[in-house]
Amino acid sequence: MKIQNEEAIWGLVDAKKEAFVKLADQVFDTPETLYKEFQSVKEHISTLESEGFKVTENICGMPTAVIGEAGDEGPIIAILGEFDALPGLSQKPGVAEYKPIAEGGNGHGCGHNLLGAAALLAATAVKDWLAETGIKARIRYYGCPAEEGGAAKAYMARDGLFDDVSAAISWHPSTFNAVQHGHSLANTRVDFTFTGKAAHAAAAPHLGRSALDACELMNVGVNYMREHIPDSARIHYAYLDVGGAAPNVVQATSTVRQLIRASDNATLRDMVARVQDIAKGAALMTGTTMEEKVYSGVSNLVGNGPLEKAMQVEFDKLGPVVFDSEDTAFAEAIRETLTEDDIAASFQRAGRQTPPDLPLCDFVAPLDRSSTGSDGSTDVGDVSWVTPTVQAQVATCAVGTPFHTWQTVAQGKAPAAHKGMIHAAKVMAATATHLINSPETLQAARDIHNQRQNTTPYVCPIPSDQKPPIVEQTP
Ligand SMILES: [Zn+2]
Repeated sequence: MKIQNEEAIWGLVDAKKEAFVKLADQVFDTPETLYKEFQSVKEHISTLESEGFKVTENICGMPTAVIGEAGDEGPIIAILGEFDALPGLSQKPGVAEYKPIAEGGNGHGCGHNLLGAAALLAATAVKDWLAETGIKARIRYYGCPAEEGGAAKAYMARDGLFDDVSAAISWHPSTFNAVQHGHSLANTRVDFTFTGKAAHAAAAPHLGRSALDACELMNVGVNYMREHIPDSARIHYAYLDVGGAAPNVVQATSTVRQLIRASDNATLRDMVARVQDIAKGAALMTGTTMEEKVYSGVSNLVGNGPLEKAMQVEFDKLGPVVFDSEDTAFAEAIRETLTEDDIAASFQRAGRQTPPDLPLCDFVAPLDRSSTGSDGSTDVGDVSWVTPTVQAQVATCAVGTPFHTWQTVAQGKAPAAHKGMIHAAKVMAATATHLINSPETLQAARDIHNQRQNTTPYVCPIPSDQKPPIVEQTP
């Protein structure tokens, strides 16, 4: 391995940071969700073009997905970005109280405005480093839409978009600094639609067959199933159609969406088959017919030891994000709005006891930490099944901030958030150059990845013929 000069790559990040902080703020100001990220992707495309990347739009038929590539020959390092917001989380930035900008509007409740801009800043620094050093490698930025509920990366993984990638790097805004451990839950959302027969509920009930009854019986079955699933698995549901609001009509149609989560893809497939049997049983019991459609699905995240070690080396050299007294004052104000349980959960995820008073994270958690706390799901999981993948978590907000809340949005444009995103870009860019300089680390990462593929091959939880639920842009 060549000796890594971190000062050089950190300096390339610093050289262009202002433009990317602006990009993060622009995306913050146009919060868009679920395949409707037209303005956000436009900003990313124009940055890619002005930085001289080779740009490919409309990835996988998704109008809000983009890839930018630079460099030639050698290994391909992917840096993954996101820029989608969440519904119902509109919030004024920079204030420590609930204050929506637009009632019911969107907001960046998961910090993806920072995520995408920092990923693109990292890719740009690596591009500039390749140009300066003349080293043969390719850097590729993946602008991925619809992470929240749309599983864009799962479609991209299924369709082979990462097949030539040597390693993928990403990050997520967080309350602490760490290299992410490889675990998140696999999940799938399946819509079960029952069709019965409408009838007058009093005059001719014997002629009706209730689709709503079928949905209710299905949920009873799933509720009994919950006792007999692994502890880490989860099943949630929502009614999409209850067949109308008239109780004196036998409801002829009804749809329930089941969101099933499990620790790994194989367990998920087993649970989905059991839920499908329950749906068939409900249809049989009620004399209705049942159709099912997968709405989305993501794989569990799998770790990669060699990549995690390489990223930890780079994170430790850089150290934690350095915050100032104004950052601390705002974090303290935000913490006034949080519960002790929020703060304790945040620290348990970092594998630490809760210190008495720490408004902003001042350490980089070690790789061998034991972390507890609940896991969510991410479509980065699918990328990790098709190429060795590593992610950082970088402090951008007050310790204890629960994500998907107004408090996250309120901190999304703060100076602390900007410091965190620049720091994340340095961690990712330094990890990328470390890997480019160390073919043996890339090979070790690939060997572990291939071993897993040989024993448990990747099966995308989204059926092969299903298209992403994209939205066309209205003029
Ligand atoms: Zn997120």
